Amino acid sequence: MKKSPVFFLLVFAVFLLSFTPFHFSTQDSLYILKMDASSKEERTAITSLGVAIEEVKPNYIVGIAHEDSLQKLTAHSFKFEAKPLKQFLLDFPVKDADFHNYSEMEAELKSFAEKYPHIAELSSIGESIQQRKLYIMRLSGPTPSSTPKPAIIFMGLHHAREHLSAEVPYFLIKHLLENYGKDEKITQLMDEREIWVLPMVNPDGAEYDIESGVYKFWRKNVRSEGADRMYGVDLNRNYGYRWGQEGASDNPRAETYRGPHAFSEPETQAVKRFVESHPNITILLSYHTYSELILYPWGHTYHDIEDPQDFGVHKTLATEVGRITGYKPQQASDLYITSGDTTDWSYGTHGIYSFTIELYPGSMWEGGFYPSAAKIQKVVHDNIPAALYLIDTADHPRKVLPNLN
Ligand SMILES: [Zn+2]
Repeated sequence: MKKSPVFFLLVFAVFLLSFTPFHFSTQDSLYILKMDASSKEERTAITSLGVAIEEVKPNYIVGIAHEDSLQKLTAHSFKFEAKPLKQFLLDFPVKDADFHNYSEMEAELKSFAEKYPHIAELSSIGESIQQRKLYIMRLSGPTPSSTPKPAIIFMGLHHAREHLSAEVPYFLIKHLLENYGKDEKITQLMDEREIWVLPMVNPDGAEYDIESGVYKFWRKNVRSEGADRMYGVDLNRNYGYRWGQEGASDNPRAETYRGPHAFSEPETQAVKRFVESHPNITILLSYHTYSELILYPWGHTYHDIEDPQDFGVHKTLATEVGRITGYKPQQASDLYITSGDTTDWSYGTHGIYSFTIELYPGSMWEGGFYPSAAKIQKVVHDNIPAALYLIDTADHPRKVLPNLN
């Protein structure tokens, strides 16, 4: 068949499209960088240029950024060392098969709900962009209560590459279910509280990160324009309290892209609806990796929480959780400013005592986002007692203030 000029134009258009900057989903332009930054103000400027800062050391940071963020850093006279991410890409090793992918997580949660119907109830708070259910488990003893029981919510995996952040909530569910009726304290806590656990806020991103058999270091969700134009939104910059300020990027290519408006993504909308419809939630915990930190609001400002009692509760709970886990407690903005994160919203809008735990390891050199599966049980073991402490506190968090007892 003779090819028409239109055919050749089409071929040419496809050829051009394959080189457009909209091919964000390839990680070809992603770099790992190390740069001097000793003050939170410098780190805020860096993160506002689209760098996802993953490690804060006394004199330097390690971060991940796209090439155009590096150009912006240079334009702002920042000095840095950058290596193409390709040099760091890890095969999905056989030994990591202990991590749960989405379908394994779904199957496990369903089997828990079947095995423990009197204390475990599985539901979905909504669907991701690719229509995966956002599963949440309600754990509570069958004891009747005339008023809603005090509630706490644990969430994992806002960021795709942070696979360990889904394992801790998963094993928390397992631990609570297997010990109900056996361990006196756990039985009491489950009878007196309503415990909600949402292990994967960003299942599409997590699946995308592992689907090729090589970890992609993907952070965001899978928001796209058209079939090939995937860029992703940073879900932990998409919440609606002081959204769009410093510490997030308006560039869709950037690692910290905040989305076109607050709650633009179905995943954050689902969390919003759920929290709004459960006013009995007093404490929220969002697991991330990595750095071994306990972070509390504010993220959007260097100022402390204005209410001295709320500030005291956050600081006291973070300190105690830090003591239990061995992680370092601090105000989120002591690292750098972030706007649109989960905890500023849940505290700022709903008055919920809110924490981000950056799990093991402490640094990139101990595995960063991809520690060996052999570490899962250690991290779970370090974090379950802290979760139990927060569940215990959720009836009246202000009870931890010394002058209120
Ligand atoms: Zn994260």
